[in-house]
Amino acid sequence: MNIPEVILCKFGEVVLKGANRQNFESSLVKELRRRASPHGIFKIYYKQSTLYIEPQNSECDMDGMYDTARCVFGIVGVNRAAVCEKNMESIKAMAREYLPEKLAGKRTFKVDAKRSDKRFPLTSPEISAEIGGVILSTVRGIKVDVHSPDVTVTVEVRDDHAYIRAGQEPGAGGLPLRSAGRGLLLLSGGIDSPVAGCMMAKRGMDIEALHFESFPYTSERAREKVMTLAEEMCRFVSRMHVHVISLTHVQEEIRDRCEEDYFTILLRIFMMKLAERTAREYNCHALITGESLGQVASQTLAAIEVTDSVVNMPVFRPCIGLDKNEIVIEARRYGTFDTSILPFEDCCTVFTPRHPKTKPRIEDVMRELDKLDVEALLDEAYATMTTETKLVFPEYK
Ligand code: ATP
Ligand code: MG
Repeated sequence: MNIPEVILCKFGEVVLKGANRQNFESSLVKELRRRASPHGIFKIYYKQSTLYIEPQNSECDMDGMYDTARCVFGIVGVNRAAVCEKNMESIKAMAREYLPEKLAGKRTFKVDAKRSDKRFPLTSPEISAEIGGVILSTVRGIKVDVHSPDVTVTVEVRDDHAYIRAGQEPGAGGLPLRSAGRGLLLLSGGIDSPVAGCMMAKRGMDIEALHFESFPYTSERAREKVMTLAEEMCRFVSRMHVHVISLTHVQEEIRDRCEEDYFTILLRIFMMKLAERTAREYNCHALITGESLGQVASQTLAAIEVTDSVVNMPVFRPCIGLDKNEIVIEARRYGTFDTSILPFEDCCTVFTPRHPKTKPRIEDVMRELDKLDVEALLDEAYATMTTETKLVFPEYK
């Protein structure tokens, strides 16, 4: 027999948001409705502090919907649950049928019953005891452990139905997408910047991306790699415009006119200024980079002080306090790692100095910058911008 199942989601910090709470809730419901369409027809609604995702026919792809729900920011817990009528006979029959497969291989369990319908004839402890009995008699070898069970079985008796589930998986956490303004991510092909973008999206930011290339020193394939990364990020950020600016002439001018030790920091100044200009044009109110303190010469405190001083906008660096291995864990979680490690060149790796300045003095950097026609180079680079839009699936609107 096919067991009727639904997906139940718990919201996170959204519930703390006072007057804004309703906006947050409705934006989450909307996002889930948009994201559900490739998986079939689902009824999605919010009731009694739970988001319900109910398949409307047998064609619905529950596994796909479940994976999608786990990528939606603002949701802290995702479960599949069996649905049955609100009477003890049905609940016990469903527990007998549904739970043995879910509890296979587990050694210990406890039952946690919740009864939001207070007219239900049994109390929560009585429901727990009855369902505990059913499990002990149908799942061979399993024992009760109320303190640290392998799995918690939850029985919820709600307004319309009863729901039975085993365990709970964490959701993506954070706040709903687009609830915290828009930020411009400086997206390279590396491991760190996709993670930085996802981390800020997790705090509710709408992410727009800017990539710098240096054709022919960087290749078409390097650009494609960045576009693939942007597509992969869309599993979490849903939609992203990716702007691409060519730094070829800027880099050639720096190479021809400036002292080698300053190549990297000068390039970064151009990147930051062009990013700020892009941000202002596209209504972004922060820049986001994947920098991590001390990771390379351009990420020392002194170098960051210089690059920060050339823009008038907040610069978010969510990876700043993370070690590389911690960033890698996040990159795997967000699904960008395997693409990030493909070996293509980045504009930061062409014309790299042998001895980059790790403690650049701002006056020295500005003296080098004065050797260039900065405004003309910025205008020229900005005019090379092209834009592609990436979506989690083609019909996402
Ligand atoms: P990542 O792994 O993100 O490439 P990284 O360790 O290689 O970082 P850098 O190359 O110094 O570090 O770059 C630091 C940050 O500058 C990146 O995280 C990214 O935000 C930005 N950046 C670097 N190269 C580019 C590029 N080609 N286009 C856009 N942003 C870039
Ligand atoms: Mg890089």
